[in-house]
Amino acid sequence: MRRVTLIPGDGIGPEVTAAARAVIEASGAQLDFETAVIGQQAEQATGSPVPPSVFESIERTKLVLKGPTYTPFGGNYRIRIQRPGADGKMEERSYPSLAITLRKELGLYVNLRPIKNYPNVPSRYTGVDLVIFRENSEDLYVGNERMVDVDTAEGIKLITRGASARVARFAFDYMKKVGRRKITIGHKANVMKMTDGLWLKATQDVAKAYPDIENDARVIDALCMELVIKPETFDGLLLTNLYGDIVSDLCAGLVGGLGVAPGANIGDDCAMFEAVHGTAPDIAGKDLANPMAMILSAVLMLRYVGEGEAADRIDAALSAVLGEKRAITRDLGGSAGTKAFTEAIVQKLKKP
Ligand code: ATP
Repeated sequence: MRRVTLIPGDGIGPEVTAAARAVIEASGAQLDFETAVIGQQAEQATGSPVPPSVFESIERTKLVLKGPTYTPFGGNYRIRIQRPGADGKMEERSYPSLAITLRKELGLYVNLRPIKNYPNVPSRYTGVDLVIFRENSEDLYVGNERMVDVDTAEGIKLITRGASARVARFAFDYMKKVGRRKITIGHKANVMKMTDGLWLKATQDVAKAYPDIENDARVIDALCMELVIKPETFDGLLLTNLYGDIVSDLCAGLVGGLGVAPGANIGDDCAMFEAVHGTAPDIAGKDLANPMAMILSAVLMLRYVGEGEAADRIDAALSAVLGEKRAITRDLGGSAGTKAFTEAIVQKLKKP
């Protein structure tokens, strides 16, 4: 039985992760869960926002299903953790958010976000089916910033050839494996000639080794415009960390919003699956959250661990429930709660 570290998270996290767990269990997949608490609750109980026991669990399982986690805005709030450094001695490291802490500490260098239309999920578009590959370890998004003086703030955009080539290799290998045809590289190398220039060069160099996969490049602003005009023409998007963060939400909007967009963070020997959405405190604890993004993240996880059949069954059950229009959550124009929607999928899995 493969074990998974389950992080319920904050806000709507506990509701949507419970839904994903119920669906996985009904699918017959051979998975066992270890629950781990991080964030403010963990800090109050143990003094650390990510206690050593959580890292121990992940080191054992190498697999994480994570609900959204809350990080306070503004100020100089950082997540501080104690972990061994390269020389084995304990050191303190700090990050701007819990999600970034886990992505960096676990070496999860790719953020994979599939975006596609589902039946009866209202959207302005049809035929959208693309995969976003977002570099996950560097760029402005890692929050390397400082106040120069009270009126001046500075952020460092660090891009390396190694990290750029690494995510590009993952993206081209993935496209080849799943039989997709084309990758579009997003950049702003016309202005950020050194940082985005290096990103573009490094990713295009990798592309040369994959003659079967077409590739092209777009300046990020033009890419955003084309995405809202003709999203169905895109297949794979390869983006730096910050552009990837922004374009992921834009693309979620193309297919029905944040309630339906799943994600995976993948490294060489460990992976963490989480929805694109945040903690949505406005609807937390009210049985209003759409668990679909979290369930689809679980589907990605099942494929990753070789439980492709269970993944297919869940995907089909989800599409059937949406297709029958019996249980649709409020964000998608229906009136079903989180629990009723989940139960409808569980019932479909038990009696297709
Ligand atoms: P955070 O600070 O954690 O990012 P947020 O509320 O600012 O939280 P999101 O959680 O990404 O950002 O959500 C933005 C809005 O989208 C929420 O206010 C919520 O109404 C809606 N939303 C997000 N996720 C879902 C979901 N799974 N189901 C229904 N509505 C959602």
